[in-house]
Amino acid sequence: MNSAQHQTASPTPTTVQADDAPKLDAHLPSEVGEALDFCRSLISTTPRDTTVDPIDALLYAVLVGDDCEAHLTDPTHQHDDLCGGQDTMALMAKKHAWSTEVVAKLRHLRAAVATVTTTWEQQQH
Ligand SMILES: [Zn+2]
Repeated sequence: MNSAQHQTASPTPTTVQADDAPKLDAHLPSEVGEALDFCRSLISTTPRDTTVDPIDALLYAVLVGDDCEAHLTDPTHQHDDLCGGQDTMALMAKKHAWSTEVVAKLRHLRAAVATVTTTWEQQQH
């Protein structure tokens, strides 16, 4: 590709993309946040012991989180015996034979969900 072709091939959003993007930016995060918050409420208030069933345990780890998240509201937080730090995740990983990769994936997904739900919660106030 010569430079003239490269210049004409530079990405220029079509009218459809340009019109659709603001709608997604304006509405998708709020709706996804509401949906994730709804799912989090379900899994965190079920009378079932969510540590027993492996699917419940995975859903809980992503939607609620097994690690202490006090640092999200208190950047100076230091883990102690009361918060448990990362002890619960370690216990659940052992109980359900989660590999290091699975634990890393769960923490990655939990961080993504927390970002969306925290934004959604802030929008509600
Ligand atoms: Zn802590």
